[in-house]
Amino acid sequence: MTVFEKAERLKNLPPYLFKELDRKRTELRARGMDIIDLGVGDPDLPTPDHIVEAMKDAVEDPDNHRYPSYSGMNELKDAVSKYFDRRFGVQISAETEVLSLIGSKEGLAHFPLAFVDPGDVVLIPTPAYPVYHHATLFAGGESFFMPLKKENNFLPDLEAIPSKVTQHAKMMFLNYPNNPTSAVADHGFFERVVRFAEKHSILVCHDAAYTEMAFDGYRPLSFLEVDGAKEVGIEFHSLSKTYNMTGWRIGFAVGNQALIEGLGAIKSNMDSGVFQAIQIAGIKALTHDQSCVKEMVEVYTRRRDLMVNGLKRIGFEVESPKATFYLWIEIPRGYTSAQFTTKLLEKGVVVAPGNGFGEPGEGYVRISLSQKSSRLEEAIHRMKSITF
Ligand SMILES: *Cc1c(COP(=O)(O)O)cnc(C)c1O
Repeated sequence: MTVFEKAERLKNLPPYLFKELDRKRTELRARGMDIIDLGVGDPDLPTPDHIVEAMKDAVEDPDNHRYPSYSGMNELKDAVSKYFDRRFGVQISAETEVLSLIGSKEGLAHFPLAFVDPGDVVLIPTPAYPVYHHATLFAGGESFFMPLKKENNFLPDLEAIPSKVTQHAKMMFLNYPNNPTSAVADHGFFERVVRFAEKHSILVCHDAAYTEMAFDGYRPLSFLEVDGAKEVGIEFHSLSKTYNMTGWRIGFAVGNQALIEGLGAIKSNMDSGVFQAIQIAGIKALTHDQSCVKEMVEVYTRRRDLMVNGLKRIGFEVESPKATFYLWIEIPRGYTSAQFTTKLLEKGVVVAPGNGFGEPGEGYVRISLSQKSSRLEEAIHRMKSITF
C-alpha cells in the first residue's frame, strides 16, 4: 500500500480494450506509417462559421467572463424548448425541464450519482458507449447487461430481463440512434420501454446524441415523444456531432423535472456551468437556420454510400445505416475482432474492435466515417488485400 494506491472505484473499472491498439497505432505513426484513422467518433469537419463568429463576439464581452448560472442561460433553455417543439413536437418547460451540460457525456456520467444507491441495479445495453457502465460503477450500482443482438435489430429484449433483476432495477440506459451498432429505434420500441419503466418503476435515461445525424429523409425520434415518457425519463442531447462541436463541450438534458433537479444538484457541487460564450455559440447553433446540418448529413451520406459499396465490392456483408456516422461490420470468419483490427492496422487502417464496446460486440468492428472520401477509398483499397 502506498499513497499512490488508487481508489477501489478506479481499480474496479474494466480494462480499457483500446489500450493495446492505441499503443500500436502510436508506434506505427512514429515509424512514419501513413495511418487512416476510422477508429474515433470525432467529426473531421469544422464547426460552421456562424457558430464560430458568435463565440468570437461573445468572448469579448466582459459580461460573459463571470460564473454562468448552474442550470444554463435562459436564452439557451428557451432555444432548447423551441427546438424540441419544432423538431419533435414535444413541449418542454424552459424553466424546469432543461439543464445545460458540459457535453452530454458529463451529464450521463453524473446522472447515476443523483439516483443510484449502492446495490441498485442499472440496466445497460451492450455493446455500448462505456460511460453508462463506468458511471454506474462510480455510483456503487450494479450493471445488468442487456445484449443488443442482430436478430433483435440491436434493440434490447425487455422480456428477457429476469423479474429478480427488474425488482432491484432503478434505472435503464438506452441510446438510439445507437453507437456503436448504428441501429435506430421506432415509436413502438420506445412505447414498450415506457410501459416497462412504468410497470417496474424504473427510470429511463436516453442518450440521444445522434438524432440529427440521419440519412435518406429518416428523422430519428426523441424518446420523449411517447406518452408518459416524461413521467419516467430524461434525455441527453449533444451539440457535438450535430454541429461538429466535440471540442467545445456543450450539451443539454431535458425531461422529468425531478430528474433534472437531481442531476442539477449533483452538478452544482461539481462544476459551475458552461462558459457563457460557449452557451451563446450553442444558442446560435440551435436557432440559426439549419442548412449546416443538412450539409453535414449530405457529406456523411456520400461517405456512407462510398464505404458501404466499397466494402460490398471487396466481399463484406454490410447494411447501410439509417443514422450515425458508424458502420457496424461483421468481420470475416476465422478472425476475432482484435485479430482483424490488428490485421487492418498493419495496413495502416485503424478501426474500433467491436468487443471494446462489450462482449457481444465480438465478431464486429466499428468503422467511423470521419475521414474525407479519398481517404475512405484508400482504406478500401488497403482492406482489399485481406483474405476471406
Ligand atoms: C459522441 C457521443 C456522445 C456525445 O458526447 P459529448 O460529451 O456531448 O461530446 C454521447 N453519447 C454517445 C453514444 C456518443 O457517441
